[in-house]
Amino acid sequence: MSSSQHPLHPRLADIRETIHRRNPGETEFHQATDEVLASLGLVLEKRPELAEASIIERLCEPERQLIFRVPWVDDAGEVQVNRGFRVEFNSALGPYKGGLRFHPSVLLGTVKFLGFEQILKNALTGLPIGAGKGGSDFDPKGRSEGEVMRFCQSFMTELHRHLGEYTDVPAGDIGVGGREIGFLFGQYKRITNRYEAGVLTGKGLGWGGARARTEATGYGTVYFTEQMLAESGRSFDGLRRVVSGSGNVALYAAQKVTELGGTVVAMSDSEGYVVDEGGLDVPHLIELKEKRRERMSTYAEEKGGSYVADGSIWDVACEVALPCATQNELDADAARALAGNGCVVVAEGANMPATPGAVEVLREAGVQFAPGKASNAGGVAVSALEMQQNATRDSWTFEHTDERLREIMANIHATCSRTAEEYDVPGDLVAGANIGGFVTVSEAMLAQGVI
Ligand code: GLU
Repeated sequence: MSSSQHPLHPRLADIRETIHRRNPGETEFHQATDEVLASLGLVLEKRPELAEASIIERLCEPERQLIFRVPWVDDAGEVQVNRGFRVEFNSALGPYKGGLRFHPSVLLGTVKFLGFEQILKNALTGLPIGAGKGGSDFDPKGRSEGEVMRFCQSFMTELHRHLGEYTDVPAGDIGVGGREIGFLFGQYKRITNRYEAGVLTGKGLGWGGARARTEATGYGTVYFTEQMLAESGRSFDGLRRVVSGSGNVALYAAQKVTELGGTVVAMSDSEGYVVDEGGLDVPHLIELKEKRRERMSTYAEEKGGSYVADGSIWDVACEVALPCATQNELDADAARALAGNGCVVVAEGANMPATPGAVEVLREAGVQFAPGKASNAGGVAVSALEMQQNATRDSWTFEHTDERLREIMANIHATCSRTAEEYDVPGDLVAGANIGGFVTVSEAMLAQGVI
């Protein structure tokens, strides 16, 4: 039986009610907290001391929430106004750590859901990083380089006072890549007059960035699935994979799949997907998406395969599905289609891409499922390695960093799997990840007193 099937413990039901009441309309935040609370009943039964001193109540309330105005001047000379956010969620394990998302859909509730996920994700890496998340409803799509720079400068002009290598260390997320991190870092340096490399991660390789950081989330997700397949005695070779999304998570997950002997048969962007049973040309896709910033339909025009404008990528038959686009992109119908077509593993590369209904369908169908807070932790893990290199003024090779990443992902898998066994829900990686992360954070919070 999975943890989510137990009726919610009365204390947890009260906490759930408080969260919903106190944070009205923040549906994604509710979804993320509900999912974790469903696993914590097992902790209350087995290790109630870990939930003393209102630890769960404190865990669900951010330490600090910042909302600020971001005014900037567009190319036509008009003043634009966006809203900026940084939610500093939990600092029990280290400085607040987590990305910035620039996307028109970003609201406070979005940032809170992402920041909350980050607490347990960062704890699972075993590295000394707390949790935060930020962003803006600014849409970089269609904006000139000058506009993006002016926006980033204005955003940092406010945010810089809250950051620091020992305080809060942002990185990228959707809409924030190397270019944006460069503009943000430049402005931080100019305002503070300090070359504080460890204040942001995802920097350029020539100025304090870590090798393999760009690839890390995608590679890490694939390393995690390698462990899942190995545990159930399956080999990696020749398996068909479907990868949704076309950002750095999806592209480098696809690259690692082909490198390890798998085949990527379909990938998508926000407009449609391309499918080729013979396998997609991943280097071409990386060039097309990263350098030329073209649509997925261009891939089909140039390399063949079929482009599907409407429809679901999850209808494409595969053994392994990696949702790497965005939250709630894989619903219960999609999960039924995957299970019906022989899918055996679903691992989240994005944050919470599978809806609760989808996770339930997969569980009932016996499809192994990895939650993003475990399977996509490779990105933030290599961010922590970047902080480590910055602190020691060192620069590691790609191979060394990649090796550490692979080790970290194997450890996260082992923690989730062992924790699920210990709490009598073997194979339930959702419970394993939630409880495994919670145990680490709650022990630290208890030791640090009521703060
Ligand atoms: N945005 C990424 C995540 O969701 C990475 C965060 C970071 O590197 O700080 O985990």
